[in-house]
Formats: sequence, structure tokens, C-alpha cells
Amino acid sequence: MSKKILILPGDGIGPEIVAEAVRVLNCLRTDFGLDIDLDEALVGGAAYDAAGHPLPDATLELAKEADAILLGAVGGPKWEPLDISVRPEKGLLGLRSGLGLFANLRPAILYPQLADASTLKPEVVSGLNLMIVRELTGGIYFGRPRGVRELENGEKEGYNTLIYRESEIDRILRVAFDIAQKRGRRVCSVDKANVLECTELWREVAIRVGEDYPGTELSHMYVDNAAMQLVKAPKQFDVMVTTNMFGDILSDAAAMLTGSIGMLPSASLDENGKGMYEPIHGSAPDIAGQGVANPLATILSLAMMLRYSLDEPALADRIEKAVDRVLDQGLRTPDIHAEGAREVGTAEMGEAVVAALRECD
Ligand code: NAD
Repeated sequence: MSKKILILPGDGIGPEIVAEAVRVLNCLRTDFGLDIDLDEALVGGAAYDAAGHPLPDATLELAKEADAILLGAVGGPKWEPLDISVRPEKGLLGLRSGLGLFANLRPAILYPQLADASTLKPEVVSGLNLMIVRELTGGIYFGRPRGVRELENGEKEGYNTLIYRESEIDRILRVAFDIAQKRGRRVCSVDKANVLECTELWREVAIRVGEDYPGTELSHMYVDNAAMQLVKAPKQFDVMVTTNMFGDILSDAAAMLTGSIGMLPSASLDENGKGMYEPIHGSAPDIAGQGVANPLATILSLAMMLRYSLDEPALADRIEKAVDRVLDQGLRTPDIHAEGAREVGTAEMGEAVVAALRECD
């Protein structure tokens, strides 16, 4: 039966980069037998303009019916003056919570061809390929009680609650172990078990889950050391798994190791492997409409979709090989341009990936 994919272009460069990913999907459909149905809907500022809300009911309904969702990006200066309840970003948050997307997968991959783009020495980062698995729907960002209260002496006090149930820890650890089994078979669980009871429990559950995966090595690291190690020797990691807040911070640091925001995909998964796939960057209003945005992060998000939601690992590999090939050919959008390379626009890069897809074995 064909799989349903919902396309949400969003705002800014979203429609431009998503068009290139759709070009790739259409090639997989016509040349490689991928059985899919595509649907498209509005989200973010574009949805607010058309329907008065960044996540119209119709979009959420289509997202619930889909097997996987591809999102461009949302937001832009035009919508910044809006009330926070209808800002474009609310559309994203609504999709995440409405679909129960609790596992955020953020790979940090540095193609050797782009090693000079990192601020770190090429030998430290060249060939980097790590996966951060971040818990996305629990922890301190959602824990209650929360707020700001006034004390008897008139001073204000702010407070949040770090809270995780065993079942929440268990399911995110299993996602990490399942992924590690398809990669380097090493999971590093990041916590602060020396200070926070909640993450003492996290570590306890991690050890328990690890016993179900005898062929995969489990290690533990305090989050402060993990931050240092990411900068010092990032290639030591295969899969890192951590809480919502620690993952928020570490995944951004890891992304910046690569130096090229236009290259990094991400996935957010529910309990059944359904997922929303999107580049990690935003809507880049500064370059929107110019045809110069890098579509590779969005195209690589498709590869993740094929691997994690559509059970098509060979096609996922093919996309990644095609991207590798266009980089080998010296094609670069302006954000990753280097001396001696040939500068291309968004559409030319998409076309080159499609040509490479057909050539790859
Ligand atoms: P941004 O990621 O949009 O842009 C940061 C810089 O990176 C800009 O100079 C931009 O031109 C460049 N850039 C980003 N993606 C690129 C690409 N594919 N190719 C070439 N260059 C690229 O971050 P920002 O400027 O802080 O935010 C802009 C808007 O995007 C804001 O409204 C913000 O809220 C929103 N945003 C959305 C998401 C999302 O949809 N998931 C994520 C982050 C920011």
C-alpha cells in the first residue's frame, strides 16, 4: 500500500528547499519504485495569513493521517509582532505535541569535503558522524509546578520542575539503542546523576534497558563533561542520548561543529516510528526568494524519513551517496562555497542530486 507523505513547505526559504526535496521524491517514485502519495498543506506564517492560525485543524488532521511529514521551516520578521499564541513557531510546537513526537534525532555529520567549514581543526572533525537522540516532550521544559511566585519579603522566585517517569526514560533509551544497532553499536547516555535525582533514575533505567541490547556498549557521561568532549574529541561518540534540556544545548553545539547549518537534517519520531523530518535551520528570511538557499539539509531529511519511517534503508543510502557525489563534483551553494568550487543555486543543486541519484549504485 502506498505511504502517505505530507509536505509542509512553511515560510521564507521553506518552499524553495522543499521543492528540491520533492524533486528527489518524484525521482525515487518514477525511477526506483517508491510507492508514495504526496499531499501538501500550510503551516507557520503562511497558514496564519491564509487561515488565521499557524496550525489550522485541516493541517493537523492531514499530519495525523500521514505516515511521514516533511517540513521546510517556519517564521520570519513579518509575523514577529503577532501575539505569541499565533506566531509561526506555535505551528511547529503544535505538530510535535499533537503527534506525540517524543524522540528528536539530530545527526551531526561533517562531510570530509566540507571540513574547512568548521571552526575546529579539520583533523578533529573531518568525517564526524554522530547522532544525538534528545527526549522532546518531557523533562524540565514541561514539568509542573512551574512559574514565578512572590515570596513573603516581596522578592520574586522562579521555579521549574525536572521530572521524568521510568516509562519516558525507557522509551527514549530504546530509540537510541535501536539506532545504535544500525550504526556503531555504542550509546553514551548523558546525565547529571551526581547532582540531580531525576537523572540518577535516568541512569538506572538506561542500565536496565542496556541489558536488553547485549551487543551494544553503554557508557554514561555527565553533561558538563559531554559538552567538553564534544568540542575536544567529537569523533569518540556514536549515539548520545539525553534529556530534553541537555539535548537542546548539546545538539546545537554538535551542529556547529560542522560549521554548515544548511547541511544538517533532523527527525522527530512517535512511538510507532511515524516522524516529522526537517532541516535544523530556520526560514532564513535574509536570503528567501533569491534561489540561493542550500537544499541539502532538507534532502538529507528525506533520507532520514526513508530510513526511520518508510523502511527503505537502501534508498536512504542512495540519497546520502548522491549528496556525497555532488560535493565531490565541487558543487556548492553560497553558504558552503569554497575556493575552486562551482557555486550553484538551490534548483541547480537539487537537479544535481537527482542526476547523482540515477548514477549511484
Ligand atoms: P536561520 O537558521 O533561519 O538563519 C541563520 C543564518 O543561516 C542566516 O544567515 C541564513 O541565511 C543562514 N541559513 C539558514 N539556512 C540556510 C540554508 N538552507 N542555506 C543557506 N543559508 C542558510 O535562523 P534565524 O535567522 O535565527 O531565524 C530566522 C527565522 O526562522 C526566525 O523567524 C526563526 O524563528 C525561524 N526558525 C525556524 C526554525 C524551524 O522552522 N524549525 C528553526 C530556527 C529558526
